[in-house]
Amino acid sequence: EGTVRWCFADQLGPSFVDDPDGQVLLLETTSVFRRRVFHRRKAHLVLSALRHRAAELGDRVRYVKAGGYVDGLAAAGVSPEDPVSVCDPTSWAARRFVRRLVSGEVGPGAGSVRLVAARGYASSHADFAAWATGREQRRLLQDDWYRTQRVRHGILVEGDGQPVGGRWSFDEENRESPPRGATTLSDAVMSAPMTPMPEPWWPEEDDIDAGVREDLDHMEREGVRFVGEDGPRRFAVTAAEATTALAHFLEHRLDAFGPYEDAMLAGDRWMAHSLLSASINLGVLDPVDVARAAADRVQHGARLASVEGFVRQVIGWRDYVWQLYWHQGEGYRERDALQAGRPLPAWFADLDADRTVTARCLSDVLGSVREEGWAHHIPRLMVLGNWGLQHGYDPQALTDWFHRSFVDGYEWVMVPNVVGMSQHADGGVMATKPYASGGAYIDRMSDYCKPCRYDPKVRVGETACPFTAGYWAFVARHADLLGSNPRTSRAVAGLRRLGDREALLRQELDRGDAAP
Ligand code: FAD
Ligand code: SF4
Repeated sequence: EGTVRWCFADQLGPSFVDDPDGQVLLLETTSVFRRRVFHRRKAHLVLSALRHRAAELGDRVRYVKAGGYVDGLAAAGVSPEDPVSVCDPTSWAARRFVRRLVSGEVGPGAGSVRLVAARGYASSHADFAAWATGREQRRLLQDDWYRTQRVRHGILVEGDGQPVGGRWSFDEENRESPPRGATTLSDAVMSAPMTPMPEPWWPEEDDIDAGVREDLDHMEREGVRFVGEDGPRRFAVTAAEATTALAHFLEHRLDAFGPYEDAMLAGDRWMAHSLLSASINLGVLDPVDVARAAADRVQHGARLASVEGFVRQVIGWRDYVWQLYWHQGEGYRERDALQAGRPLPAWFADLDADRTVTARCLSDVLGSVREEGWAHHIPRLMVLGNWGLQHGYDPQALTDWFHRSFVDGYEWVMVPNVVGMSQHADGGVMATKPYASGGAYIDRMSDYCKPCRYDPKVRVGETACPFTAGYWAFVARHADLLGSNPRTSRAVAGLRRLGDREALLRQELDRGDAAP
């Protein structure tokens, strides 16, 4: 087609470019770091990814550093005579902006920017619309969507569209507690052929990474604030790195992924997770390729429950979240069905100030976010999210916090996961009941509780587990709503039977915003 392809910083893989010899425009804009406080590792990852992509493209790249996009396009010489094309971006704000560029309302003028459909997902908006049309809002179930994804891509499907292994989901087999007595999963898991599971694959840093770090230091000296600890880069930023990371995961760790998917160990924050979300979200790894490569591992002896569980995450959940972000409209971010408006207390919000937390699970997970900008799904949902839900944190503020603190956080993925799945602020589109639970769940799924100063079975007093007490306080606050849902009405009945109910609620009121 001849025009230059402009790629946003989450469109960095080869699949975002059509002409293998064509020019690519990359804009490095750092003004966002002056407006919001990001984890330093996140800033590092994104800048490293952009500059690695530029290095890879060599003389095919136009690389422009600018304050903002409009300035950047002007500096890059974009005009109606020298137009660019761009794949539809990933947030409502960016899409609106790109459409204004296309119409000429802002930027270098009508005809300078052409729009191409979004890429980087395992479904198009038309695929989702075809599936969702005629279904009630409440019937937009992930499980159902996931089946259509499997069939459409022919992944783990045989014959005339039947699931390999006779079932679409092996979820029930994928909820094991961590192996007893193990401090790390690698110690405990012997994957075929009976070799201990190695550590995850880690990238090797280069001069580009060092250069980014110097620039971040420079920004900090100029007054830009980052939070969190910096450290060796953990996540793949190029297609080549991501391919290596994927192959390593598939060979050594995928087999153990399924059974321990939901488990947590204080001594092993990575467990058997793939650590690929940041790379997939940067666009350097295509989700369909990932799912196909995982499905192939069944032939190499990886257990089907693990392979299926992983495929479900990558083409089921991820696309479901992506599509809901658009389907639910621009107001999704502002939903607040539980009327939860509490601001995040500083000990939670400011990663560099969290050392006051003594609740072992929460302290460990906040530590993981501070140190890595990452925690796996269950710490996000059942520790951080659960805590926010129990205490009525403002869903928008919490979404913003997750977005800024996590290396893989982007608007499209954070809004449904935080507002919808974890805070139930969408009133039940993503989850049929709120993901609120007491310390018993954390105790069952982790090794956090034994050495903790609190006891998950205690509700009131010095050793009362803040998650257990917080759970009951949440049930009390939303008794009407939970009582009217058959999936949660038993919790309300349970609360009524608690003899120490009044003392418990008083205790939680007194606790206020104090760090647990
Ligand atoms: P694995 O456990 O190895 O899973 C494989 C892949 O599946 C992931 O890499 C990811 O691409 C995909 N995936 C699985 N679940 C989801 C999901 N719910 N939404 C989107 N993709 C999914 N994921 C993000 O990519 N970015 C986020 O900002 C993000 N925020 C989250 C916030 C909350 C409160 C919750 C509950 C979940 C969030 N997730 C987010 C989803 C999920 O927790 C992460 O994708 C996962 O933990 C990343 O680690 P991993 O790559 O090792 O994933
Ligand atoms: Fe967390 Fe409660 Fe267990 Fe302590 S006892 S680790 S606070 S769930």
